[in-house]
Amino acid sequence: MAPSSTPRVPSGLVAVQPLRSKRCAGCRRGPLPLLVLEDGAPRCLHCADLGHLVFLPRGDTALTRRAREESTLSVVVVRFNRRRSRYERQGVLVEEAALARAEARCLADAEARRRRRARDARRRAAEDERFTAAFAAEILRLFPGCPADRARAIAAHASARGSGRVGRSAAGRALTEGAVISAVVAAVRHVDTPYDQLLMSGASRFEARWRIAAGVESVLRGWAEEADVG
Ligand SMILES: [Zn+2]
Repeated sequence: MAPSSTPRVPSGLVAVQPLRSKRCAGCRRGPLPLLVLEDGAPRCLHCADLGHLVFLPRGDTALTRRAREESTLSVVVVRFNRRRSRYERQGVLVEEAALARAEARCLADAEARRRRRARDARRRAAEDERFTAAFAAEILRLFPGCPADRARAIAAHASARGSGRVGRSAAGRALTEGAVISAVVAAVRHVDTPYDQLLMSGASRFEARWRIAAGVESVLRGWAEEADVG
């Protein structure tokens, strides 16, 4: 028998996964995977009138809560943990139809969450689209001579979500002149000057920037003038 120090099985409707093989005091069947103690005597679920319930292992909190809500009768399943000297929950026994309803509710929730995520993604995409258009318009206001497709590409690059680039910073979000100009300068540096080749050939960033400064200036001066002039 269990030592006297073993805590009592928790009260209420509780079924136990026995650590040692036990037989039912009513029908003598055994060993029992799961038993209920009635006046200290183990009984199988059938003899305890709980044979119609199904086992739902612990782990899915929402499903467990809903299954218990849906079930007229629910039983907590425990097992004794020797090392910790306590009974621990393993799951619940609930009506099969209740479990099916609970699963349906959780699925409906998952579907609702999936739809909300899709809606959010579409809204963010539309926001990005508007922001990129506003950014491009601001580039063209400051640099009327900048080709429209370049302005669009610079804006899209600078405002790419999650890029941490200037368009994503607070200043870029506010479309300050400084933020727009630094996005344009960065683009000109990489596309219209040999800046990247200089870096590749071993030039320091400082040296490379110094060597291309005049080139950047000249492109920006050209773009700052009205397109129809050039
Ligand atoms: Zn029995």
